[in-house]
Amino acid sequence: MRSNPARRWWPAGLLALATLALPTLAAAQAQGHARLELVEAVAGQHVTLRYTIENSGDADLPVLKWETPLGGFFGDILDVRVDGQPTPYLGRLAKLGNPRPENYIVLAPGDSATVEFDLGEQYLLDRAGQYSVAWRGEGGLDDAKRLVDRAPAAETLRFAFDGLGPQAMERYLRGFDKAFHGDIHDQVAYQGCDGGEESQALAGFNQAKSYVSESSTYLGTLTNSNLSSSQRYKKWFGAADGGRLSTVKSHYSKIKGGLFGGDYTFICDCDDPGVFAYVFPSIPYEVHLCPEYWNAPTKGTDSKGGTLIHESSHFFVNGGTHDHVYGQSGASALAASNPSAAVDNADNHEYFAENNPALCKDGEKSCGGGGGGGGGGGGTTTVKWTVQDGCADGDGQRLKFFDETRHVTYPGTSTYYQLLSNHSGTVTFSVAKGSRLCLGASPDPPDGGWWCVGTDNKHPTSSPACCAAVPASGKLIKSTKLTCKVPG
Ligand SMILES: [Zn+2]
Repeated sequence: MRSNPARRWWPAGLLALATLALPTLAAAQAQGHARLELVEAVAGQHVTLRYTIENSGDADLPVLKWETPLGGFFGDILDVRVDGQPTPYLGRLAKLGNPRPENYIVLAPGDSATVEFDLGEQYLLDRAGQYSVAWRGEGGLDDAKRLVDRAPAAETLRFAFDGLGPQAMERYLRGFDKAFHGDIHDQVAYQGCDGGEESQALAGFNQAKSYVSESSTYLGTLTNSNLSSSQRYKKWFGAADGGRLSTVKSHYSKIKGGLFGGDYTFICDCDDPGVFAYVFPSIPYEVHLCPEYWNAPTKGTDSKGGTLIHESSHFFVNGGTHDHVYGQSGASALAASNPSAAVDNADNHEYFAENNPALCKDGEKSCGGGGGGGGGGGGTTTVKWTVQDGCADGDGQRLKFFDETRHVTYPGTSTYYQLLSNHSGTVTFSVAKGSRLCLGASPDPPDGGWWCVGTDNKHPTSSPACCAAVPASGKLIKSTKLTCKVPG
């Protein structure tokens, strides 16, 4: 289990009591304050705003840059209105993966970070009037995937603007031109891709075509009267509702029309860490491919094919979905709590198409898709596991949880939870009751092994700090402190 002798991490067994309540770990308070200000608005040129976040607490404040304008826009994080009417977001809509260390900025107590940006680059500013810019905080991660709190909300900024912001409008007009006057002849083009990238783009494209065909066929079998028997529909789009069903059907029908008839262009110009791909929603069929795309499998959860379903659903001509939440657990929770948002969320469309593990209609024994179901009865319960990195060496930790009984890995076989150096975080997920669950940690950057589990990742160590039995009733609440220690 100890493959890298350079540096040692050990769970501090005495602190890792299964009964330790979560808040006791929060000795210091991380508190932040964010604000938006108008720098300058010049009609026809730019509308420059300044975003500042400062750490007003007495502990380090980690901020995921994706959820703020720090580091650029990856989603519709602001609610911009003109005279109370929302105006569309025209910037990048990305599929985000697990955040990497470079996706965070960590503010020491008293420190602040600031960035200026042109609102007219991101939102359609085509009307004069009274503007309001409110914090939406969207484009964020599934709470179960995150190990830092969301960035604090900035107060709403209001200002009068009597001109137009031309930047995003140019993008809008170019997309409009492409959508409605384009020369459509069903061919794939590439920009800036090498031969290997072209073949990987094409593999994902072909998988996406296969996914959308299967999804459309499946949706074609659903009616208002049998909808409630579809576990697959319910899982990703929530309670049965005829209006929402027709919205979903129309999205897949348009996505299918684009994938089979539109001119897709794959652009290999993106090196943003932790990002799969992005599009500008107003410009149909241009997809920018990013590092996580190349790492993804062709088929299955968070795959190349699924990513292209996700991105295709963002195009205005296909229905213009948003990114309310990312990740399977967040997407299924959204379907349960807010089905109207789920039918507007890109990842829900991706996961419905990937259908992994496969979900059937009631009474069906099998219904395609990938992967087998867990089954086994007994139901699931919630795990809340707090992990503290008690070693201030600047290296974060990647965390996984291994269900040693059922051989299931959380958050997935090719993904992990990110823990920042010298921080603690709480992961919440559901597992089968009665399982034996073990924490695996690996330094970030990784050294090839997961410790706290055996060398082959199957046989748990005997340490109660690393492993726990999931109770047959009630939740599992557990804490593990990782400390660095030079081997003796
Ligand atoms: Zn997206």
